[in-house]
Amino acid sequence: MNDHATTTPVEIPGSVGEGGGQVLRTSLALAIQTGKAFHITNIRAKRKTRGLRAQHLACVRAAAEICGATVTGDEIGSGEVTFVPGPVQAGEYSFDIGTAGSTTLVLQTVLPPLLGADGPSTVTITGGTHNPMAPPIEFLGHAFLPELKKMGAEVTLTVERAGFYPAGGGCIKAEISPVSAWESYELLDGGETVGLSASVTLSKLPEHIAERELETIQQKLGMEDEAMHIVLADSDGPGNVVQITAEREHVTELFTGFGAKTVPAEKVAKGVARDYQNYRRNTAPVGEYLADQLLLPLAIGAGGRFRTSKPSQHTRTNAQVIQQFLPTKIHENKVDDFIWEVHVEP
Ligand code: AMP
Repeated sequence: MNDHATTTPVEIPGSVGEGGGQVLRTSLALAIQTGKAFHITNIRAKRKTRGLRAQHLACVRAAAEICGATVTGDEIGSGEVTFVPGPVQAGEYSFDIGTAGSTTLVLQTVLPPLLGADGPSTVTITGGTHNPMAPPIEFLGHAFLPELKKMGAEVTLTVERAGFYPAGGGCIKAEISPVSAWESYELLDGGETVGLSASVTLSKLPEHIAERELETIQQKLGMEDEAMHIVLADSDGPGNVVQITAEREHVTELFTGFGAKTVPAEKVAKGVARDYQNYRRNTAPVGEYLADQLLLPLAIGAGGRFRTSKPSQHTRTNAQVIQQFLPTKIHENKVDDFIWEVHVEP
């Protein structure tokens, strides 16, 4: 057993709350952060395909590599993993998921501990860049990382190549500087909307799909032509992603829809427009996805508070897992019928 890690592992039931991959990813990040070993059972118990899929296995292996962990159960389909971390090592890392599994989720696993390493790191990850049920790469670049920057974390993200399910082959690169001093964070009011744009990323599919999607969004939201963009990606396989970026004075939020063979382009675009309209109507600065993703950096950092819509199951589950590793207190207060305030006290 590794000297760095405590000997009694933290017991994590993988079925807790949301019961998805985030329970595992947060555990991996915090095990390295705290030096605590953990033992997780029933991994992704509430997903159709239970246990470790390629992306989750890549997370386990990536987390193990950056700290020289001792791991058992790291194989496809495994429902149980033991992870005994060592000290995190800054460095140049390259991880290949081997499928179209989400590169951003692998990055979000190794990012928190690497921010606490004793030098800069470069992480290159190959797989999917736009996966349903995961943050698309633009979400990390425009919504998540700018909030991290306010906490004191500098990360430069480059998309070397887009990759879509099922072909994959995307590649992202993150240059991570260690945080010298975490700053406490507060985001209670998003301010006025200062920019609204829509973009469709398309690969190996007819361009009329993108045109129809943008037309639908324009009709719904009355946006100017200059705010509509088509990005033609050169990927291994076909892909279609529709995004609306809402830039407010104090935060940027991003809404994404994923094209699918059986779903009309107009329907995909309408779904994204509706997500944005719901966000705008609510007025809270932090959207559903950003809310659950902010908890981990806030917990390892200097804490803080933000306002969001009703916390999702992901947010509540992530809070629970974080509190199993750290003495952090995370609580939510209902401000009114639509807005909640989440406090993270490190
Ligand atoms: P899990 O389902 O447990 O693997 O966690 C999925 C993660 O992906 C959560 O952190 C979600 O917030 C995030 N996520 C899912 N869909 C989106 C999206 N459209 N935009 C941003 N983040 C997303």
